[in-house]
Amino acid sequence: MQQYVFDFSQGSKDDRDLLGGKGANLAEMTSLGLPVPPGFTISTEACRAYLATGSEPDGLADEVERNLADLEMRMGKRLGDPSDPLLVSVRSGAKFSMPGMMDTVLNVGLTDSSVSGLAGKAGDERFAWDSYRRLIQMFGNTVLGIDAEHFDKAMDAVKRDRGVEADVDLDAADLRGLVDEFKAVVRRECDEEFPQEPRRQLDLAIRAVFDSWNTERARIYRRQERIADDLGTAVNIVAMVFGNLGPDSGTGVAFTRDPATGEQGIYGDYLPNAQGEDVVAGIRNTLPLADLERLDKTSYDQLLGFMETLERHYRDLCDIEFTIERGKLWMLQTRVGKRTAAAAFRIAGQLVDEGLIDEDEALSRVTGAQLAQLMFPQFDPAAERTPIARGMAASPGAAVGRAAFDSATAVAWADAGEDVILVRRETNPDDLRGMVASRGVLTSRGGKTSHAAVVARGMGRTCVVGVEALRVDPRAREFATPDGVRVAEGDVISIDGGTGEVIVGEVAVVPSAVSDALGGEPLPDDVDDARRQVVDAVLRFMRHADERRRLGVRANADTGEDARRARTLGAGGIGLCRTEHMFLGSRRKVVERIILARTDEQREAGLDELRPLQRADFAEILEAMDGLPVTIRLLDPPLHEFLPDLTDLSVKVAVAEATGQRDHESADLLAEVQRLHEQNPMLGMRGVRLGLVVPGLFQLQVRAIAEAAAELRGRRLDPRPQIMVPLVAAVQELEAIRDMAESTVAEVAAETGLELRFPIGTMIELPRAAMTAHQIAQAAEFFSFGTNDLTQTTWGFSRDDVEATFFPAYLERGVFGVSPFESIDAEGVGRLVSIAAWEGKETRQDLELGVCGEHGGDPDSIHFFESIKLDYVSCSPFRVPVARLEAGRAAL
Ligand code: PEP
Ligand code: MG
Repeated sequence: MQQYVFDFSQGSKDDRDLLGGKGANLAEMTSLGLPVPPGFTISTEACRAYLATGSEPDGLADEVERNLADLEMRMGKRLGDPSDPLLVSVRSGAKFSMPGMMDTVLNVGLTDSSVSGLAGKAGDERFAWDSYRRLIQMFGNTVLGIDAEHFDKAMDAVKRDRGVEADVDLDAADLRGLVDEFKAVVRRECDEEFPQEPRRQLDLAIRAVFDSWNTERARIYRRQERIADDLGTAVNIVAMVFGNLGPDSGTGVAFTRDPATGEQGIYGDYLPNAQGEDVVAGIRNTLPLADLERLDKTSYDQLLGFMETLERHYRDLCDIEFTIERGKLWMLQTRVGKRTAAAAFRIAGQLVDEGLIDEDEALSRVTGAQLAQLMFPQFDPAAERTPIARGMAASPGAAVGRAAFDSATAVAWADAGEDVILVRRETNPDDLRGMVASRGVLTSRGGKTSHAAVVARGMGRTCVVGVEALRVDPRAREFATPDGVRVAEGDVISIDGGTGEVIVGEVAVVPSAVSDALGGEPLPDDVDDARRQVVDAVLRFMRHADERRRLGVRANADTGEDARRARTLGAGGIGLCRTEHMFLGSRRKVVERIILARTDEQREAGLDELRPLQRADFAEILEAMDGLPVTIRLLDPPLHEFLPDLTDLSVKVAVAEATGQRDHESADLLAEVQRLHEQNPMLGMRGVRLGLVVPGLFQLQVRAIAEAAAELRGRRLDPRPQIMVPLVAAVQELEAIRDMAESTVAEVAAETGLELRFPIGTMIELPRAAMTAHQIAQAAEFFSFGTNDLTQTTWGFSRDDVEATFFPAYLERGVFGVSPFESIDAEGVGRLVSIAAWEGKETRQDLELGVCGEHGGDPDSIHFFESIKLDYVSCSPFRVPVARLEAGRAAL
């Protein structure tokens, strides 16, 4: 019989698949001997079975019963016993942490009859009623699906009546009255009574946690974070300990290092006389953890000891949730904590220095996505800025945008192409869409562990929280400072996620220190220690990644400037030099003349005009990449890009005719353009097809490459061009171009007296090319996978259209979790790549294999290309460091 329920003494931190992160770590802390309240975990398998069938799997109810009985025995109380009730929390916990996304219910087991038993045993009437009202509120909201607002309204009304600000100022009688109000809310909204059987409460709560896996906000979060939809969540049933038992009780969150900056030390928030959810929800402003030393030194010292134990055990930054019940410290949760990109690098560096991890492990803990974030610009330190307020720097970066006061507005404006800053008092999971759409998030309440802070950090959004000076009025859609500065919806503001500053208007941004350092620039003298440590760690792990990686990293660059930038960022050559950009502006006209030429002379004249220009283009790039391979792709774009616009021309001719002035030249041109017009230009006269049909065009390019190389050789440089033919589907196409190219290079060699020979290869970007790789490799010295076109043609997706049309629906329906244009579709497109790579190598052992589609700079795709042992990836210059880092990680 399958086991679905596991006592905390049965698991370990390695059981996250089965027990979820929270359950696995509770088990681990239990076996480390830390004070964890007893409890048990219902496995993710049970959740998956439930989600698949809509009902609890056979045997689950009995197993829960047995484990509950065991728990009752150990605690010496029975669930919901009227005289001395055992209460439990029911907590979600998936394999990957999804902060605030799923449900938790505390105080399960309280009923009209057990509330007085609890009061009697605790000797505290107020506490018992406070716990009961919390149960009804949480249960009502998460299990019964009642809008939280109904409970908030009732709570606000009582506070108003009593003339108090905070919930802690309500006394037992107030809370008792509130319980009646809350029960009335349940009756009104659900047409049923708040359930009074403890076991039924438990079963409903378990079911609600299972169901919460599939709420909309959880699904959006998973898509963002690329968490698989079919994992399911575990459910943890834990004996309650109480932080709301008076001033010697409380609850908090702690980090073993600062998750925002990576600074060593003890960080966190503490809230006296409160239950766990109050801290994360940011409902009351918390105290810094250091204040606990003053309030309860014994617990504080003990906590520090546990934190050290955990950090040494996990060898990483841990975050912790704890509760103090009348002076007794309980550990409720731990996990390897989320952190900002800067903190990730800095902490990994510190841990290597402390001897806790080696450089390989450090490299596995930092990601290309984090590096990309650090390469984001920051506010210009020299720019004029007068902050109107300052809060906590919760997630770094520099964000500028128009203030939006609710999620829907933020999404609407972002969809219209505006930069937005979402401004809220505090955020809750319903704000997720708005946060995703915004450049940054600003809240007036909450600490570094509030929902806004945790989620923004995870997403890499700039975030400033707890700006207490701001009075945010979501209804009036404005915020104001005590000095009378008002910011209305739509006004531009800037927020600094590094300092916590809020500024009215736009502040100029400058490139990041990490980017500069990666480009070889020394750090300015006045840079602070924190930034220096981050930069040092980045450079250190880049070095290590370069030592480790097998994959080469080249750049997609088509100007001398891009080539130089790519080289300073560590590119080992150019994997794709697109030549079409060299035919824009006035040169486009010349190509038009070449294509439309009626005589050889006309065509020759055009070609002669272009050749010196192309030679200079190539010479500049080859010089910038001296000694490194430069893969130059012959002209690829669809024909119509070089012809006059059909509509414009038709209008011109029609107007001329209407006014009686026949324009013969335009009319002839129109006829020609109509003749060449294509319904599907991306599947039409492009690439090698253009090269085979328009005489002299590719030859001109090959000659220009050969002449540029000869010129550089004359200057004792070492140019290494590779000639690449685009959009090949059949080996015959490639053979024809190859013959032409070889004889052209031979001509230049003869003219210059130099020995010239360049590798000639092809893009593999059509399924037929991939499927006939055996043959194509006979004519190609290298393959470069054009995964953009290969994705387009394999799926039959128009790469220029689909992301704006039906992709959102496809993502929503889970056809794929991420666009196949962004991350390689390993099963389909990737399979073609791997078949072609394999067959190509069978024909030609030394065939060089690279990728030059956008996927060359995407972390997941890089890991795939490593797994099929390609030789290099090529990506935009800015992504080169990211690709180097990921290539190193992929090789670990
Ligand atoms: C490709 O198709 O992947 C490619 C690199 O070529 P382009 O994007 O220029 O079509
Ligand atoms: Mg292409």
